[in-house]
Amino acid sequence: MKGKVWLIGAGPGDPSLITVKGLHCIRHADALVYDRLVCKELLAEVPMDCEMINVGKTPNNHPIPQEDINQILVAQALMGRNVVRLKGGDPYVFGRGGEEVETLAKSGIPFEVVPGITSAIGGLAYAGIPVTHRDHASSFHVITGHLQQGKDPQDWTTLAKLQGTLVILMGMSQIDSICQQLIEHGKSATTPAAAVMHASHQIQKVSQGTLASLPQDVIRDGIKAPALIVIGDVVQLHHLLQFTPTIMQLDEITELSELA
Ligand code: SAH
Repeated sequence: MKGKVWLIGAGPGDPSLITVKGLHCIRHADALVYDRLVCKELLAEVPMDCEMINVGKTPNNHPIPQEDINQILVAQALMGRNVVRLKGGDPYVFGRGGEEVETLAKSGIPFEVVPGITSAIGGLAYAGIPVTHRDHASSFHVITGHLQQGKDPQDWTTLAKLQGTLVILMGMSQIDSICQQLIEHGKSATTPAAAVMHASHQIQKVSQGTLASLPQDVIRDGIKAPALIVIGDVVQLHHLLQFTPTIMQLDEITELSELA
């Protein structure tokens, strides 16, 4: 009998941001396929006999080809297993979850998707930055900063004109050129901008400045990937709206739900 694959979003980092449904699936997994953005507290929630399959990087630090990951999911399901594919944030936001589920669908493998809180929204919230705000931004745009083999897929003229909040994922290695392109295409150099490293983790760190200063600010503050780049007036709210999150253990959360 065929098993089933559950494509689950782990949330941005704080383990307690996983959904109730996602946590339930992890606790009933026969195999768990995960990569580097997933926190160890969630991995510890699997049953004792669950097979753990790390598809983040090979032992010599090469990424595992996406096609191989797709085939691992198919093979595990064909063994009749309940397979959890756990991804950071939301599995469909720059997570290649779409490609994985496409393979499953074409192979006739049953699957279900459990959305997660994307770092693009939840990660900013943990840094005191609301992605929209009536006074500051009435739209937001989530963009990849990852350029494929030197190609620049972005339409900078259009992006520079957008009035909403710009959130750039995977942009740290290109931060100089991202900020420069936006300014050259007409976005004001004084637009508030920030970078948020390890958002919602206990080691979260924020660097705040302007579009012109951000590339230098992140060097000064030691901000590196994984980080979110956020550009727009909502960044000004960071100091007022930042907070210290309560740390909740996952077993405490279960206890609370049992009491309710
Ligand atoms: N599916 C994920 C994004 C995967 S792309 C989501 O929905 O959040 C990976 C990029 O996401 C990283 O390079 C970084 O830009 C961003 N990212 C993910 N988690 C993050 C975190 N906790 N803090 C800062 N950036 C994060």
